[in-house]
Amino acid sequence: MAVTKTFDDYRAAATAQLERFARTTLTHFINGEPTPSVSGETFDNHSPIDGMLLGRVASGGAADIDAAASAAAGAFADWSGRSGQERKRVLHRVADLIVERADEIAAVECVDTGQTVRFMSAAAIRGAENFRFFADHAPDAGNGRSMPDEHHVNFSSRTALGPVGVITPWNTPFMLSTWKIAPALAAGCTVVHKPAEWSPYSAALLAEIALEAGLPPGVLNTVHGFGESAGKSLTEHPAIKAIAFVGESATGSMIQAQAAPTLKRVHFELGGKNPVLVFDDADLDRALDAVVFMIYSLNGERCTSSSRLLVQGSIHDEFVARLTERVRALRVGHPLDPSTEIGPLIHPLHCAKVRGYTATAEEDGATVIVGGGEATDPESYYVNPMLFTGATNDMRIAREEIFGPVLTVIPFADEADAVAIANDTDYGLAAYLWTGDTGRAHRVARDLDAGMIWVNSQNVRHLPTPFGGTKASGIGRDGGPEYSFDFYMDTKNIAIAYDTHPIPKLGTP
Ligand code: NAD
Repeated sequence: MAVTKTFDDYRAAATAQLERFARTTLTHFINGEPTPSVSGETFDNHSPIDGMLLGRVASGGAADIDAAASAAAGAFADWSGRSGQERKRVLHRVADLIVERADEIAAVECVDTGQTVRFMSAAAIRGAENFRFFADHAPDAGNGRSMPDEHHVNFSSRTALGPVGVITPWNTPFMLSTWKIAPALAAGCTVVHKPAEWSPYSAALLAEIALEAGLPPGVLNTVHGFGESAGKSLTEHPAIKAIAFVGESATGSMIQAQAAPTLKRVHFELGGKNPVLVFDDADLDRALDAVVFMIYSLNGERCTSSSRLLVQGSIHDEFVARLTERVRALRVGHPLDPSTEIGPLIHPLHCAKVRGYTATAEEDGATVIVGGGEATDPESYYVNPMLFTGATNDMRIAREEIFGPVLTVIPFADEADAVAIANDTDYGLAAYLWTGDTGRAHRVARDLDAGMIWVNSQNVRHLPTPFGGTKASGIGRDGGPEYSFDFYMDTKNIAIAYDTHPIPKLGTP
């Protein structure tokens, strides 16, 4: 990653914003105005770097969601009625301002989430790219398809759905929220965003940037708070037409139930236990780089991380030996230090969960090659990277989404065995495969049960392609105008007859 700035540069970039957040309670952002909670309730926001109190945040409930949903409903006619060119212009301005403030966004994100600046600086820029990509498609968002038949001209058109809710998690929160919010706004929807309670700050920066860029008040509203209060109210609000959700599979299931009485459209990007298959005919140097990167980057707090390494028996020992060396050398440290590769995890509860997996691995009979038995302060948010070998796919370390820097290695005998192990999971988000055999690449990619397959590649996101998972990993796809706009818009078909088709005559003699 091309990070040219220093630790001090990023510390300076974070400081002004963090001092501002520390001085006053961070409010919601409703109808273009900073707005405290109706109840006056707040919650504390701590930094994973040292547990320090960063500031207080307004804690939203049903009344705040109602105000935000009303603002979004009130702004809908104006925003959806503007030309696509006008929406494109404003959203490009949002992207420009994100780029201008990218260092500040990245630094605040690191202090708020523990993610490292080597990845968050790129994630902030990707947030801007998400806006630009969908902004460019805004002028054509309403266009549908022409589907003539013998007797009719058929054509479809799309119109914005209405006010929508966006609920996001705490891992890379800025990038993920732009991924949902940008297409919604480009389509002409208005938005109520409920960011994760463990990482509220970058959402506040986005709301400010959007207003400064000329997004009319009420088009993007942000309500902070907990899932069971603010999040639940948003999913139940009758004015909200759809919920785009990124988070855990169990939460997705709750949201589907909460949203059912108001018949909301839902789009879920959920958890994963993604396999990476390494065959003995692969470019093993590149495969090793990708295996290490795809689980130990972003602190392993990444939905598409390859947390199960399936490696062919014939190369297992040599590959694992090289892997072990690399994992032992990973640099754990302060997230604003550009040399750091793994930062602190988001929250003590999450840390405790992740640390617990060394005991789980041992109980289930796996070998803890890296990460076990090291003295780690239980109060600290830092964990050492872990590597488990000698595992089988029925162990908890192979089945549960750990969401930390933890890799489980499972050997396989042949192609059929590899595919069977890879598919034996509740999840189906992504899968990676490494082979030098073109036929095998096609066969295995065809047979793997996941929404996204990368062959001889790490996870490279290309925005026109569909992003999403099968099974417990999600419902729906993001990406391109066809996938994202289909979710945020209603499609209408218009059939105009040539007056040649037969019409049965009922009620005639
Ligand atoms: P989470 O499900 O605990 O929380 C996500 C969001 O949902 C938060 O804003 C939370 O407040 C809210 N929420 C919780 N309960 C709710 C309820 N009953 N009603 C409405 N909202 C509610 O997830 P997390 O721990 O913040 O994030 C980690 C998870 O996200 C992992 O499982 C990860 O795989 C997943 N994720 C998936 C993708 C993807 O693209 N598939 C991307 C990133 C993260």
